[in-house]
Amino acid sequence: MKHYDVIIVGAATTGSYFAHQLAEQGRSVLVIDALDPERIGTKYDIYHVAKRDFDRFRLPLPEKEEDWAFEFTDNVNLSAFGNWPKPGHEHVIGMHMHPHTLRMNRWAQAAGAEILYGARFERLEYGPDGKIRGVTYTRGGKTVTAGCGLVADCSGIPSVVRTSLPDGYGVENFPIGPEDMFYVNLRYVKYQDPKDYVRRNRSWPYYKTWEAPQMDPEGAILGVGANFSAEYADGVFERFEEAIDLPRYTLQYIERGRTPYRRPPYSMVADGFIAMGDAACLTKPSCGEGVTSAMVQAEIAAEVVGALLKLGKPLTRENLWPINRRYVEVQGRAFASQLATVVGAVGTSAGENDFFFRHDVIFSAETFRAMGEGKELAFGPGEMARTAAVMLLGVVTGKVRIKTIRSLLKSMGDGGAVSKVYADYPETPEGFDEWVKRADAAWAACGSMAEAAKAAEG
Ligand SMILES: Cc1cc2nc3c(=O)[nH]c(=O)nc-3n(C[C@H](O)[C@H](O)[C@H](O)COP(=O)(O)OP(=O)(O)OC[C@H]3O[C@@H](n4cnc5c(N)ncnc54)[C@H](O)[C@@H]3O)c2cc1C
Repeated sequence: MKHYDVIIVGAATTGSYFAHQLAEQGRSVLVIDALDPERIGTKYDIYHVAKRDFDRFRLPLPEKEEDWAFEFTDNVNLSAFGNWPKPGHEHVIGMHMHPHTLRMNRWAQAAGAEILYGARFERLEYGPDGKIRGVTYTRGGKTVTAGCGLVADCSGIPSVVRTSLPDGYGVENFPIGPEDMFYVNLRYVKYQDPKDYVRRNRSWPYYKTWEAPQMDPEGAILGVGANFSAEYADGVFERFEEAIDLPRYTLQYIERGRTPYRRPPYSMVADGFIAMGDAACLTKPSCGEGVTSAMVQAEIAAEVVGALLKLGKPLTRENLWPINRRYVEVQGRAFASQLATVVGAVGTSAGENDFFFRHDVIFSAETFRAMGEGKELAFGPGEMARTAAVMLLGVVTGKVRIKTIRSLLKSMGDGGAVSKVYADYPETPEGFDEWVKRADAAWAACGSMAEAAKAAEG
């Protein structure tokens, strides 16, 4: 049986990045992916990554005529009635996912990682001590078992390895169900009037819809994300089109995808195991994007795993624990708090959304900036006083319902409470069980985006 330091299941963006980081340190890495090279990275076409993330993670840049599609630098958030623009600035590169995934694969291979296409994960192998010691996969009709010190689940939403873990192994094995993800429908359209051609991103957070450029300079991508199902998301898009005057367009085609939208497992590591990327629900609560937010954890993991292997230490839950701790510190706490806070905004009516946009509270330029930067939504005393005054004005003038104020104040409190819990994330696995009880209580108080969406429908 062949033995590797690390076996990675899934050779898309997360798996390729982790493989590169480990192989670069001279570690032996096998990456298996069920798809062949013609189909890898084809779950949809265009995805965006901020230019600064290419620099931060030293990622291979896309090239024109291959994986590069377009770039833009400006974005704007608009109210439910299309008013009160909140502009932002971010240099973003749009890429074709299939050729860019292949580029990431070649980048990992050049560093020394081995990638096997058409290799489907079948099961984990356990040693006599009950700890993971390898993987069985099938390829070309053959069943192969390979040994390793660590299995990384980078298999995306199916989370094929994580969901196969026995209860109590150390990482939650929940499947990512319809209420835990956003169904994202992308309409590729061609605008009929040159004055409407798109050079920046426009978003309408009330409907979770957006308009982005696409590779055709006369075209645009009209996107929508919602829980439950692709059809449900289409219904939201219809309401959006009724409310907002979009430029006249011809529909080219529709792509449908899914992205996780729920809290990650409380611990992402166990003996000989780590969950990463979409398989660990590491997407941004602001927009559901997950390519580089996954790399934040993968970068930490590669450092920790590389150092342990260098010292000849086993990749046990205890030794891998700093990955959890450091991830929570760098990104996990802020994302958890954002996720808890945004739920409260779901019950806001279109008129209320427009009112808050107008007065620059709740849906303020500052909120969008913090969300975009992946920061916690902290409401200082000055901001709270202004928010309270605007809420009062809203109630007195009949523009805002009391129940909306209650829900928004509750969600701000929930965001703060979740943040406090994550600030106390245990340094070691000791004390984790107690921490989980606190975390469970804090999340139970928040409710989920899906529940809030259903409640808002009445
Ligand atoms: C429509 C849409 C638009 C999006 N736009 C953006 C964007 O612009 N920017 C952004 O950052 N994020 C975006 N996201 C989110 C982003 O696509 C994901 O967060 C990201 O692709 C996750 O990467 P991953 O490598 O973790 O998983 P995946 O890309 O899902 O890759 C998992 C890999 O595992 C393999 N696999 C699965 N099962 C097995 C098995 N049994 N055996 C072996 N291999 C297996 C699969 O073949 C696949 O190659 C978007 C999502 C959607 C749906």
